[in-house]
Amino acid sequence: MSTRSPLIIGAGPAGLTAALELVKRGVTPRLYEASGEVGGLARTPCLHGWRVDAGGHRFFTRSEAVLDIWRSLLPADQWVAVARRSAMLVDGHHVRYPLVGRELLTQLGLRSGARGLGSLAWGRLRHRMRRTARESFEDWGIGEFGTHWYGLFFEGYVRKTWLADPSDLTSDWANQRIRPIRWRDADGFAARDVFLYPRLGPGQLWEAAAAAAADGGAVLSLRSPVAAVRSSGGGWTVELENGQTASGDAVFSSMPLRMLVDALEPAPPQRVRDAAAALTHRALITVGVALGQRHELPYNWVYTPGPEVRVGRIQNYTRWSTELSPPHWHGAHLGLEYFTTSGGDLWAASDDEMARIVERDLRVLGMGAGTVERMMIVRSQFAYPVYDPAREASVAVIRDYLRREHPSLRPMGRNGMHHYDNQDHAMLSAMGSVARYFGEDVDPWGVNTDLRYQESGLLRM
Ligand SMILES: Cc1cc2nc3c(=O)[nH]c(=O)nc-3n(C[C@H](O)[C@H](O)[C@H](O)COP(=O)(O)OP(=O)(O)OC[C@H]3O[C@@H](n4cnc5c(N)ncnc54)[C@H](O)[C@@H]3O)c2cc1C
Repeated sequence: MSTRSPLIIGAGPAGLTAALELVKRGVTPRLYEASGEVGGLARTPCLHGWRVDAGGHRFFTRSEAVLDIWRSLLPADQWVAVARRSAMLVDGHHVRYPLVGRELLTQLGLRSGARGLGSLAWGRLRHRMRRTARESFEDWGIGEFGTHWYGLFFEGYVRKTWLADPSDLTSDWANQRIRPIRWRDADGFAARDVFLYPRLGPGQLWEAAAAAAADGGAVLSLRSPVAAVRSSGGGWTVELENGQTASGDAVFSSMPLRMLVDALEPAPPQRVRDAAAALTHRALITVGVALGQRHELPYNWVYTPGPEVRVGRIQNYTRWSTELSPPHWHGAHLGLEYFTTSGGDLWAASDDEMARIVERDLRVLGMGAGTVERMMIVRSQFAYPVYDPAREASVAVIRDYLRREHPSLRPMGRNGMHHYDNQDHAMLSAMGSVARYFGEDVDPWGVNTDLRYQESGLLRM
């Protein structure tokens, strides 16, 4: 019989993957999840048949091990293959994204095209001459797209979504996430740009993961926020907000790294607490909206960088999976994404205030706010770990301290490591953490440190 008794904080992709990996090795963990549902940021809340995917989760990976887990959890008929079609709404035009060279030259008028081309050539030349190891997002963007196209497509969007001046953000995530302009074979590429999606949204996969872990003996407690993480005599005790405690030989934590440091007892040294205090997040409010009228929007999602609306991106759920809406629904089903911080006015807005903001945005976008039939508001407080210049050094201080003083406390996942991860990265860091728990020489902190664009060399089901 196993004498191991690991505790897991969080039942998102990282926590559930850790649970599955432990169960596979004959160990039954206990999981504590703060919210009332599994899936974390990739959950899919459902009300009367309306499902809301908080972020529009594409499933893609370069990892065979991740793909094996996805395949094992949901049979092939529960996945849909979705052609990616996205656009940026600029000056009333839907400009295809990833950006296509020949469309940039003509779609916004020949003058704008010529200006874009000139500033691209100049931006590239300047970038080559001045490149620095740690460049801001603004420098990176101008070097990659030139001042004109950077200004049209990225400056406003990054300001709206990251809530920061692009010159204050580092660019280390940009190469991974933003695809360069395509000058050749754009249509061939678009035809191949397909991703996977569970029929009922990403939460379907994570609900299946929770069921599989429970079948293997894992015990999951929902509505169980962990308030304190106490080290004692080589073991660990976690204390929930309601005062209940549980003890074990290791803790796998996907709670935000900053919160973990705050919850640690005995308290870490001041410099570690200062490093944790420097880590910040952006929040996201996703409003699922059912409109009685159908809108022919030939995209999965549309970026809305302009200042005339507060919404930053619009998901067109019907194009992700028709099963995100109730059967026989013929109207539109959209997800409006609002980026904020937990100190921001949007975060403080009541449901009624949020509804008014949404209705105004729909009106400005010409989408007949009068026909709103249903609205569902989903708030995610820790949606994005912020990448400011302090992040890397702060994370390193905490990581090195935990490695040295608490090797059996294992941070993992997106907020757990304060890293801009997708689901597959969160899973890989959880898998690495479990492997390390069993004495294997892997470094979960090494996941997702490859700065190349992430969607090349993808594996398909
Ligand atoms: C807008 C948006 C779009 C995205 N698009 C994609 C995409 O297209 N493809 C993709 O693969 N990924 C995408 N992602 C990323 C994906 O959602 C994350 O990588 C993934 O959910 C991270 O998993 P995680 O388990 O590390 O963290 P989370 O999903 O954040 O889960 C952590 C869990 O821990 C719980 N928790 C926190 N604190 C405590 C506590 N004190 N006690 C107990 N429980 C606690 C939380 O409630 C949560 O359930 C997107 C994310 C966002 C925000």
